Amino acid sequence: MARTFLCTCEDATVEDVRRAFDQGYRDLESVKRYTGIGTGPCQGKTCLAIAARELLRLGATPAEVAPFTVRPPLHPTAFGALASLDPEALPLDDGVPRRPPPVERPRPSGSLPERAQVVIVGGGIMGLGLAYNLCKRGVTDVVLLERGFLTGGASGRNGGGVRAQWTTPTMIRLAQRSLAIGDSFAAEMGINTWFRRGGYLFLAPSRKQVERIEKNAVIHAANGLRTQVLTPAEAQAVVPELDGTRFLAAAWNPDDAVVFPWPYVWGYASRAEALGARVRTFTRVTGFEQAGRRLTAVLTDQGRIAAEVVVNAAGAWSRDVAALAGVKLPNEPERHEILVSEPLKPWLGPMVSNLGNGLYFSQSLRGEIVGGMADPKEPKGLHQGSTLRFLSRFARAITETIPRTAGVKVMRQWAGCYDVTPDNNPILGAAGYDNFLQLNGWVGHGFMMAPAVTELMAGWMAGDPPDEIFERFTLSRFERGETAGEDFIIG
Ligand SMILES: Cc1cc2nc3c(=O)[nH]c(=O)nc-3n(C[C@H](O)[C@H](O)[C@H](O)COP(=O)(O)OP(=O)(O)OC[C@H]3O[C@@H](n4cnc5c(N)ncnc54)[C@H](O)[C@@H]3O)c2cc1C
Repeated sequence: MARTFLCTCEDATVEDVRRAFDQGYRDLESVKRYTGIGTGPCQGKTCLAIAARELLRLGATPAEVAPFTVRPPLHPTAFGALASLDPEALPLDDGVPRRPPPVERPRPSGSLPERAQVVIVGGGIMGLGLAYNLCKRGVTDVVLLERGFLTGGASGRNGGGVRAQWTTPTMIRLAQRSLAIGDSFAAEMGINTWFRRGGYLFLAPSRKQVERIEKNAVIHAANGLRTQVLTPAEAQAVVPELDGTRFLAAAWNPDDAVVFPWPYVWGYASRAEALGARVRTFTRVTGFEQAGRRLTAVLTDQGRIAAEVVVNAAGAWSRDVAALAGVKLPNEPERHEILVSEPLKPWLGPMVSNLGNGLYFSQSLRGEIVGGMADPKEPKGLHQGSTLRFLSRFARAITETIPRTAGVKVMRQWAGCYDVTPDNNPILGAAGYDNFLQLNGWVGHGFMMAPAVTELMAGWMAGDPPDEIFERFTLSRFERGETAGEDFIIG
């Protein structure tokens, strides 16, 4: 069959764009993610206009073909060159003026019913996972409201790491369940998720970090994990390219995994819809109606829905959504930057993370290095711009860890927001109103926890006895002073 290539970087064809449109991916940001156009070295310089023309021909509106956000660097740039910059001389602000929101927005994916048993706010992995699991449990009168496109929030911007190496039995148990779900997720959802159990290797560069991983290894063994503490030479047997002088020991669990985040999100969305849920994109929640101790309706820019139960799964925007109901959450958004390199031949098995500086990176099944690193100077706030400072900090850290990466080129960078709580644990269950359930505050590990947590939450909402997480991680724990901080947050 003849094929017309529209993006030669990613081998995407006009037929791929048509297929995306047929599947309901109408706006350019979604089509970019579905087909891969614009994610190669030219970042859309050749394909964007052709894709936009084809989408308009198919019936997309001008608002739907608004160009996707161009990401730095403008040209693929080697880590070695970026590492030679002084990050402390570079600003935390991206310097790009904030654009006002466009007047015309893409069309919502469907109309709203007058009422629904469950209305979920937020179409990230948490909201969509919950919608799917509710349907599986027979609760199918579910409407999910997403103000933008699916994968627009942190669930489409993360590193895809799924690890059981946590510090508490609860988090280990949840992660183990998510890993087990990951093994069969692609088959269950009918979509390739590129789930790969390559393990996680945590490098400990100081005595303090070594003590930390040794303590964790005991907890891990007691909870059924195969974590081992390795010498640098043993760690080099796992990743031969590591500079063994840069760390004292490493924690290694071969059963941890990495996934490609987007198909997880789409998989949950399409299966939830197939089972009866209504997923409405480009539909923003603007307020709530209440009577006594209950929310009675959700107000949106597309109309009103009466609701029996409302779930706040709006990620880094959860605090703002709760505020619309007059409920105060302590969550704070925090930008985290991330990047992807040019594709390389397969060479890196595990996700590697340095506990000293928060560097993490893995190799995707497309061959790219995908990685990020937290910036201790990052101010709290909802912004997702990209900085040269991050590129230079990351480049320094990765070339110190693996000197041979100096010649590898960065292809693209982006950013998303963590939804940070005071104790780094989530907020779950009713808050402010008896039927206003929280499913947020997942900091930097919501993606990996979502399969397990949304299964438990759907079970609880469908009548199962509550798992202890719904009693422990309530909003009221902050008032009671019953917080136990989680400190194994990476990135
Ligand atoms: C750079 C980076 C790397 C990360 N790496 C990992 C990792 O390796 N492993 C891991 O497990 N986690 C990782 N995380 C964290 C993880 O991505 C998040 O914890 C998780 O995706 C949160 O999912 P969510 O559904 O709660 O939020 P989101 O995915 O952000 O979804 C919330 C949605 O709510 C929508 N919304 C907001 N306001 C409204 C409104 N008023 N009306 C309607 N919709 C609204 C938003 O548009 C958004 O789509 C990372 C995060 C970042 C930023």
